Amino acid sequence: SGPAWNAALETLEYLAKHGVRGYVTGGAVRDTLLPRKIRDIDIVLEASSEVVLSLFPQAVQPSAPFPVFIVPRGGHVFEITTFHPDKQTLQENLEQRDFTINAMAVDRSGRLIDPGGGENDINRQRIRSVFPQERMQEDPLRRVRAFRFVSELGFSVDELTWQALCTAGNGLWHTAEERIQREIEKLLTGMDNSRALGLLLRSGVLHDFPPSIRPEHVLKKQKHPNMASFSSIEEKWTVFFFLLYGGQAGRFVSRWPMKKSLQKRIRHIIQVCTANPDEIEWNTELVYRNGKRCALQIETVHQWRKGKQNNGTLEHIEELARLLPIASRSDLKVDGSDIVKLHPALPGKQIGHLLTFLEEEVLQGRAANTHKELLSLVKEKLSHER
Ligand code: ATP
Ligand code: MG
Repeated sequence: SGPAWNAALETLEYLAKHGVRGYVTGGAVRDTLLPRKIRDIDIVLEASSEVVLSLFPQAVQPSAPFPVFIVPRGGHVFEITTFHPDKQTLQENLEQRDFTINAMAVDRSGRLIDPGGGENDINRQRIRSVFPQERMQEDPLRRVRAFRFVSELGFSVDELTWQALCTAGNGLWHTAEERIQREIEKLLTGMDNSRALGLLLRSGVLHDFPPSIRPEHVLKKQKHPNMASFSSIEEKWTVFFFLLYGGQAGRFVSRWPMKKSLQKRIRHIIQVCTANPDEIEWNTELVYRNGKRCALQIETVHQWRKGKQNNGTLEHIEELARLLPIASRSDLKVDGSDIVKLHPALPGKQIGHLLTFLEEEVLQGRAANTHKELLSLVKEKLSHER
């Protein structure tokens, strides 16, 4: 039940009216049985791509290893795949999926179709494949997905499936980094991320990563961190990179295809942590330059690397941040245009220098951040320079 589920069943009705048999499948069925909030809704159709496009003109087909259509409809997003009834049965389609908990379908009357025993595995809280060796051979990304589901659902991995996961020879050498990155991000943000990360490290799967992002040596016995200490995605990725690449972490970030802005923030945390083998001496200037959020992230990761408990430094950063007279240059009560009004001919570079000077005076408490005071500082400075 729930609006997403009702929307899914309504879509099946719409399809039936046009003579197309469709089923809700994948994560939507799994999450409904759990129960857990549904994300996107996977639907599988006995139809051709042309039929999908004619029934859902708004469908878009991003390049994907699976031909999947993304269909926004009534405030929900449907991910539609197809199979040809002459070439495959629904049963066969489900059997090709990664894990039994993802290999169920529901028809428009609400009947559950569950050839692999997925419902039973949900009740027993386990990630299991039928014929796991074959499944992992077909698509080695499943070796990573397993740990993603461990993290998101808190499940354990069935013994035979675990063995197949750990078996070398099912390398991810040709798997797109982007697919790996998406699964790892879900792993890192899942509720059982510490345990999932520990299993991933132990499994040896990392050694079969594509060469571009393969770590040289991950200690199998390496103690994994308690991920509960890290709240932001920046911290989680940074810790992950340190675990995989140690001192080389900074070099590898750009090989992972996340957003450039996120890469930049991660690289910055790595850089500050590696540049400070000892404690970081937080002061007003440093907190200001990094910003409070980033300063806290740096200190949190740094403490983990040093194997230290928080000894009040995080609170110290909070305090320094609270006492900052300005959070950024744009908080100054005088800006570039005020200076131009005073001296229309002043070159841009010099305006920049003046603003840096004002910023410093305010930060160090030598000047109050008022329009009047800063303007007179500017005048004074300029008269000196004449
Ligand atoms: P989420 O809730 O995160 O969307 P999901 O299980 O729906 O989880 P998707 O990536 O959306 O994951 O995939 C939808 C379904 O397609 C899966 O449930 C599974 O049945 C199938 N699937 C996806 N990726 C694979 C894969 N690599 N191998 C086999 N089946 C897959
Ligand atoms: Mg899905």
